[in-house]
Amino acid sequence: MYPMTEKTSVAGERGDAILSFANIGLTFQTRIGMFGKPQPLHAVQDVSFDLLRGEVLGIVGESGSGKSTLAKLTMRLLEPTSGHILYEGKPIASYKGAAQKKLRSDMQMVFQDPNASLNPRMTIEQSLQEPFVLHGRGSKRERHAEIVRLLGVVGLPITVLQRYPQELSGGQKQRVVIARALALKPKVLIADEAVAALDASVKAQIINLLLDLQQQFQLSIIFISHDLPMVQAMCDRVLVLYLGRLMEYAPRSVIAEGGAHPYTRALWKSSPTADPDQGMAEQDTLGGEIASPLNPPSGCVFHTRCPEAMERCRQELPKLTRLAPAHGVTCILFEKS
Ligand code: SF4
Repeated sequence: MYPMTEKTSVAGERGDAILSFANIGLTFQTRIGMFGKPQPLHAVQDVSFDLLRGEVLGIVGESGSGKSTLAKLTMRLLEPTSGHILYEGKPIASYKGAAQKKLRSDMQMVFQDPNASLNPRMTIEQSLQEPFVLHGRGSKRERHAEIVRLLGVVGLPITVLQRYPQELSGGQKQRVVIARALALKPKVLIADEAVAALDASVKAQIINLLLDLQQQFQLSIIFISHDLPMVQAMCDRVLVLYLGRLMEYAPRSVIAEGGAHPYTRALWKSSPTADPDQGMAEQDTLGGEIASPLNPPSGCVFHTRCPEAMERCRQELPKLTRLAPAHGVTCILFEKS
C-alpha cells in the first residue's frame, strides 16, 4: 500500500539528536467576541521528544492535535511560551546573525499545497533561483548548474524550467517545492501534510522520493500527517498527538501492532487505509469531535472519546509512562500504582 523503509529503525536507541524538544508549550491569548475577556488557548502542552540524525519521525493526529504548530515552532514561525527547542545541542532562540541564517538553510519545510509555495508569476527556474539569491550563494552560471542537478534529483526534466507552476501537475509542482527545499542542502526537512493533496499514485511517488532523498543525503525528516497507516509505513518512529498533548511515542513496529494508547488504537480502527493483513480490517469511526483547545476536558484530554475512560480519567492528568526504552504512553491504564 505505502512504501516501506528498508533501513533499520533507530528507535530503541537514544542515538544522536539533531533537534530536541524539551517540555514545549504554546498558549495563545484569544478573545471570543469583541468584548470577550482574553482566554488561554493551549495549542501545545508539555511536549518533549528528540529527532535523531538520519531518521524519519512521524507525527500523527487529527486536525487540531497540534502537529502543524510543532512544525511552525521548529521553523521559528511561532515562539514557544514554555520549554525550549535545541538544534545541535543549542537553543534555537539563541541563534543570531550569520548563525541564524545558517540555521534557516539547515531546516526546510514542505507544505501541503504546492500552489501556496510557488509564485504563479515566476517561472520554475526563477522559483528555484530564489533560495540561492536570498542566501547569496553562487554565480548565475553556478546556480543554473545546481538547479539542473536538483531537477535530476527530484526526477523532473529540464524543460520545466521555463514553465509556470500552473502548467505543471500537482505531483510535478510538489517535486519543484522539494527541489527548492533541498537547494541549500538542509539537514532537517519538515514535511507538513506534504502528500495530503495528491492523488494516491502520485502520493506514493512523492513518498518514495522523500525516502530516497533521506537515504541519499542522510536527511532527518519530520513527516506530519493525519494518516496513521501511511506514517507507520514510512517512518522509523511515530509520535501520536491529541489536543496538543503527546499521547504515545513508539517505534514503527509497535505502532504496526496497533500501539498501546486507546487513541492510537482508535486511530487505527477509524482509518480507511488500515491494512486488513495486519488484522485491523474492522473499521470504526472515532466517536465525537476533538474538543476545543479553548475549553479542553479536565483530567485526560481524551476522556470524552475514550472507550476505556473511567471516573479517574475525568479528574487526573495522566503521566507519561515508559513501557520500553523507545516506547511511552500517556494513559492512566499504564501507570504503575
Ligand atoms: Fe482513556 Fe483514561 Fe487512558 Fe485517557 S487516561 S486514554 S481516558 S483510559
